[in-house]
Amino acid sequence: MRSAVLREQGATRPYAVSRPLEIESLGLAAPRAGEVGVRIERASLCHSDLSVVNGSRPRPLPMALGHEAAGVVEAVGEGVDGIAVGDHVVLVFVPSCGACRECRSARPALCSRAAEVNGSGELLHGPSVLTDGAGDPVHHHLGVSAFAERAVVAAESLVVIDRDVPFDIAAMFGCAALTGMGAVFNTAEVRPGQSVIVFGLGAVGLAAVMAAAQIDDVTVIAVDPNTDKHELALRAGANAVATPDGAAELVAGLTDGGVDVAIEAVGSARVMAACLELLARGGALVSVGLPHPEQELSVPALQFAGAGKRLLGSYMGDASPARDIARYVELWRAGRLPMELLHTDTVPLAEVNESLDALADGRVVRRLFVPSAA
Ligand code: NAD
Ligand code: ZN
Repeated sequence: MRSAVLREQGATRPYAVSRPLEIESLGLAAPRAGEVGVRIERASLCHSDLSVVNGSRPRPLPMALGHEAAGVVEAVGEGVDGIAVGDHVVLVFVPSCGACRECRSARPALCSRAAEVNGSGELLHGPSVLTDGAGDPVHHHLGVSAFAERAVVAAESLVVIDRDVPFDIAAMFGCAALTGMGAVFNTAEVRPGQSVIVFGLGAVGLAAVMAAAQIDDVTVIAVDPNTDKHELALRAGANAVATPDGAAELVAGLTDGGVDVAIEAVGSARVMAACLELLARGGALVSVGLPHPEQELSVPALQFAGAGKRLLGSYMGDASPARDIARYVELWRAGRLPMELLHTDTVPLAEVNESLDALADGRVVRRLFVPSAA
């Protein structure tokens, strides 16, 4: 089957010229016990894929990329309950084991077993099932590897979804929605009447904007240097938009001494520090973006104890994927989460390198791939 494989990190831009991802023909083993085979209908490009390509997220190579996707179940391994051939599924990037300390404390997004196998490019129930033309193993990306015609994944990497949800929308529930909306609902637990500022208006930040905007009487400020994203944020329900330079003035005008919640969806320690400055006393910064591991945060230390500010990390939106995706689908059906705004276009997988440029340049929010198209 065809799959987009990364063999070296840190390629030079433009990617349309350096072509870091090559469409290779890979072998895929049948699902083992606890695993499921999925035909990928749509896979989308997230900034975290770009971060693996550019080296901001060091990973074992070669790796078959892609972690946000939806598809149809084609085969079910032994011992898998509740998933049947023909089911439509959303792939999720943390295969929570259900048994580790974090899973037992009802924090499945932080599953330590999943973090371990995701880091080593393996699957929850065993080593890689992907092999290249020479017969050598190829690592999985976040237990998924969705820029491919097919995937074999742990059953824990799947959430069954109603068949009437279009695949273009379904795919984006797996990462953008779980992450951005979960930052608002689960991590910050935004309450009616609060004010929220979101930095970074990619799909993750825009998902946070739309989640916050449908809570009663919440003031939402959306910030991005790319003013093309401002119109989308207003349509997602933001009350006001700004470039980073204009954010402080807007916060001063729209709030009583600062925001209750700031969501950083960029992946920059500098932006995190700027967010802390905009918080009201008692406010919370939710760190969602994934900075390069060498970035360090340096901020005045007194503001935490002295002004009651909080710094909250949010991985996969502190989600419980099956519960949250079901809830987001219902809100989407009710017209309260306009997921369509996140979907820029859908192209054949062969355009994956050009698409890395488009995402890095901010020309697309979510671009989706059809892996089966030439
Ligand atoms: P994206 O590339 O689509 O969007 C990022 C946006 O940030 C762009 O619109 C860009 O113009 C904007 N930006 C750049 N500098 C800025 C600044 N100084 N102030 C405000 N905005 C600025 O990315 P995405 O796919 O939405 O992902 C966003 C971040 O979230 C990435 O770091 C990604 O790796 C991370 N992420 C985290 C998780 C998680 O579980 N925590 C999951 C998925 C993605
Ligand atoms: Zn992602």
